[in-house]
Amino acid sequence: ATPTAIMVGTGLGAGRGVLFKNATAIETSQKIDVVVMDKTGTLTQGAPEVTDLIVEGLPEIDALALVAAVERESEHPLAEAVVRHADAAGAARLAAEGFRSVPGKGAVATVDGRRVAVGNVRLMEAESVELGALGAAQQELAAGGRTAVLASVDGRAVAVIGIADAVRPTSAAAVAELTGLGVEVVMLTGDNAATAQRIGEQLGVTTVIAEVLPGDKAAKVKELMDGGRRVAMVGDGVNDAPALAQADLGIAIGAGTDVAVETADVVLMRSDPLDVAVALRIGRGTVRKMR
Ligand code: ADP
Ligand code: MG
Repeated sequence: ATPTAIMVGTGLGAGRGVLFKNATAIETSQKIDVVVMDKTGTLTQGAPEVTDLIVEGLPEIDALALVAAVERESEHPLAEAVVRHADAAGAARLAAEGFRSVPGKGAVATVDGRRVAVGNVRLMEAESVELGALGAAQQELAAGGRTAVLASVDGRAVAVIGIADAVRPTSAAAVAELTGLGVEVVMLTGDNAATAQRIGEQLGVTTVIAEVLPGDKAAKVKELMDGGRRVAMVGDGVNDAPALAQADLGIAIGAGTDVAVETADVVLMRSDPLDVAVALRIGRGTVRKMR
């Protein structure tokens, strides 16, 4: 691109909150073959809400109190949703000891002298918990696009919590527009495969890479870069920063964490997934004026 094209592109972008950090970012955005989108907080609102609660073997309110005691110590957005729900239901506030977060899986702690684990199927496997009937409930929730959080007390499965995180209103349009530009769209997430698959279907994303541990996101991006394909990564979270750095073009959702915004080459101030397509079109010189 000529210096003039870069200046024009920078100005067009700034006019709608698409901030290119430097000239290279504009040049790279014209050559992107693959756009990898983080699911939570990028394609979805990142504002999870509890929608379902299935409890076995103890009163619901007691299960909520035990689960919330663990989740109160966690910084995960799912944990916040669980705590809010427990508080709204009037569950007792119990103290947790020996809290330990298990990245990409969940968290464990001792509450009232009992070992409480809260997280996904892989955490339950690690804890040697038999899911029994709650396994079917988990699968049903996941098939419906819900994130299912499981809980065990002293090695026994006690609860499944269904959590919904609404997709952003423009996510499907963004996927369609990127596909129309001849770009392959890939969804990358730490969430359960069935949940991710369902949300991918809703949005028209054909390639879904799920159950990726936080530390493995960058390696997945690197794999997609094999064979010289140029890859953009779009993300919002602390977890996403290494993948944003690894990609040819890192794009941060403006409402995301500071570290993601700092690491990225492009920042979408309006947090609108459609602006990913705008960024690529600015690189291609096909954006003439602001909408
Ligand atoms: P994402 O890439 O979707 O942001 P994470 O890597 O942070 O996901 O987490 C992956 C999965 O681990 C979550 O979908 C959830 O099933 C489980 N998990 C992690 N932390 C917690 C927690 N504190 N409470 C419940 N589940 C958790
Ligand atoms: Mg995210």
